[in-house]
Amino acid sequence: MDLRKLLRAPTGAKSGNRLRILRTVMIKPGNQTEVYKRSNLSSATVSEAVKELEQSGHLTVEQVGRDKFVRLTPTTGVAVGVELGFQETVVVARLAHQDRNEAVTRSLPIGVAGGESNWLARVVEGIQQIVYSFGADAGGLATLGIGVPRMIRPRTGEFARPLLPPWEDGTDPAQAIAGRLAAVDPPVVPRDMPFPDVLVDNEANLGALAERAYVHPDKEMLLYVKASTGVGGGICAGGVVYRGGSGVAGEIGHVKVDRNGPFCLCGGRGCLETLIGSDALVRHARAVYGGQTARIRDLEHLIEKARRGNALCVRILREAGTLLGQTLGNICNILNPDVIVLGGTLSTAQDLVLGPCWEAIESTALGAAYGNGLRLEASAIEYASAHGALLMGLDGTTYD
Ligand SMILES: [Zn+2]
Repeated sequence: MDLRKLLRAPTGAKSGNRLRILRTVMIKPGNQTEVYKRSNLSSATVSEAVKELEQSGHLTVEQVGRDKFVRLTPTTGVAVGVELGFQETVVVARLAHQDRNEAVTRSLPIGVAGGESNWLARVVEGIQQIVYSFGADAGGLATLGIGVPRMIRPRTGEFARPLLPPWEDGTDPAQAIAGRLAAVDPPVVPRDMPFPDVLVDNEANLGALAERAYVHPDKEMLLYVKASTGVGGGICAGGVVYRGGSGVAGEIGHVKVDRNGPFCLCGGRGCLETLIGSDALVRHARAVYGGQTARIRDLEHLIEKARRGNALCVRILREAGTLLGQTLGNICNILNPDVIVLGGTLSTAQDLVLGPCWEAIESTALGAAYGNGLRLEASAIEYASAHGALLMGLDGTTYD
């Protein structure tokens, strides 16, 4: 069976429901009761459709205790997700019937900060290689999702205005990747098959999507914060990423935390990103070392030094955790999340950041907003945004 055939546009309500269930199981196989919850369909609809899809050979159903475990039968067509970071790009790929832990990952030491003339060819090559690695029998590229830094307008897939660096007028990373990828030889899509639409969203939104699908399927309100070079956030409410009217929802990095703080590239002042983005943290540390770059190479190096007990680095991370927590505490009063997942490089500092962050949430948010089981944790998914991009492709790609 080929993934492209499964993702054909539905012709009626019944085929629409079947497609909904297939997509739900592609995202993650699971017990039928869980599939029913995640698909937002009625239990009777799911049970009838699962039976039909089993009979038609699309799903395998295995009795486990009183429940049934549902998974997709082996499928051709590679699903790819790309996380275009400022400094690093990550490509993940799997077949639709495979689990997340079977996905292949490729990390490229190049990001969008280097400009399109530098990253585009390398990223396309990375996608090519990962698709080829599945072999000719795997059916080539079938879905492709891209996560990018900065805000994306819902529905149109364009950058929200004003454009923030490194993006410029007329840049369209999804189209640029599609254009070049469609021309590679040997082709990534068999010549008799259509090239998939390339879907794009903000990387933190996709991180939220992956965390909800893979780790917290039962959480009503999930907030994902990615803190690396930039600081972004994604909100997943009832399993759906909430993007807001023009794609700005979740932009925690541009919440003002210091009215006299540094100017930000968004045009604001004292934004959280200007104070806890990796450039700022590294700059703070270097200031103490008289600007010597060798003493603190980057945020990873700063975190490593803090782990080894360097008091300056510990302090910088603690203060970053506190500022982040104060901001999150205010957001808790508005969104009332069940779980806040911290991703990005800053999250690898674990308790050095999470400890002070939690204390600041407690001293900022309403008791009811954190006292009823709110969880704060570091992301357990390596490259959550890349996995979210892959899921967006599986969930949103349709073939005529
Ligand atoms: Zn800003």
